[in-house]
Amino acid sequence: MTSPANRTPLPHVVVLGTGGTIAGSGAAAADTSYVAGVIDVGSLVRAIPGIDALARIDYRQICQIDSCDMDFARQLQIGDVVRGTLADPDVDAVVLTHGTDTMEETAYLLHLTISSDKPIVLVGAMRPADAISADGPGNLLAAVATAASPLSRGCGVLVVLDDQIHSARHLTKKHTTRVGAFGSTHGPIGEIVARRPRFHTQPLRRYGADSMFADAPITNLPPVEIIVGRAGMPPALLAAVIASGAAGLMYVGHGHGTVPVDVQDLLAQAATEGLAIVRTTRVAGGTVARNGAVPDDRLGLIAGDDLGAEKGRILLALALTHTRDPLQIQQIFDTH
Ligand code: ASP
Repeated sequence: MTSPANRTPLPHVVVLGTGGTIAGSGAAAADTSYVAGVIDVGSLVRAIPGIDALARIDYRQICQIDSCDMDFARQLQIGDVVRGTLADPDVDAVVLTHGTDTMEETAYLLHLTISSDKPIVLVGAMRPADAISADGPGNLLAAVATAASPLSRGCGVLVVLDDQIHSARHLTKKHTTRVGAFGSTHGPIGEIVARRPRFHTQPLRRYGADSMFADAPITNLPPVEIIVGRAGMPPALLAAVIASGAAGLMYVGHGHGTVPVDVQDLLAQAATEGLAIVRTTRVAGGTVARNGAVPDDRLGLIAGDDLGAEKGRILLALALTHTRDPLQIQQIFDTH
């Protein structure tokens, strides 16, 4: 038998709270009307029986909001807190509770900008904390189990919901209300079995210490807008984006990122005026290849690879802190 003195100390996991439905309240059953971001992170942690057998847990509230109110400033602030927390040699991992609506954007920003290889796990819930069959407690327990595991080191930012482990690079919210709301472009990278993470694969693109943006001293990000394209798009729409001071645009095209001929001319003109334009697609899966359906070289555009508009917006904003050259931005999209 192992004496208490010989037992390996539990990993030290800090749970950082930002709000969302996981901290929501007000639902009588499986109701969808409730207020997100109400219950403090300490109460969420303390309500889970057995969580302290997985890790030595501390917690801190960063903000308390519905994640549709996230913006670059708040996301950069969260990044600073995560980075600062992980810099403490006594801390082994961070869990970040977050609303599911913009979880993919915050997760991807942290994935690209934090060099630490200690586990960073985002977690949320689709049902508020006081709903019947609330999913938050089980998700939080699974997130702490994932964060506490040495297997999660160096995997980049992970998102745990519904017993699945997703890489921040591929995660997308796919359903408005169901508990199994998340999916990944190429499938989850692991799952939780018996309170332990089991990984099946690893993210391959640049992230963490290998990212171009690792620990970059970024205090704000340039505005990047999103337009869902269509034939006959009024030129005034694009003019408004330029007039708003946007530095970049995610253009959501059809199919393989196709752009109607009349809109191609507008985009090409905007590109010559200095707007960095990335083509992506409204289709849920697949890649938008450079010079595939659209002559990017001739039009001065950038192909968005397999990133959707929301995560692409994060990468484009980061890329614009380095360069405005479309070919260099293309290189960043090809490698991150
Ligand atoms: N509106 C909520 C939020 O993103 C939804 C959720 O957390 O599931 O904050």
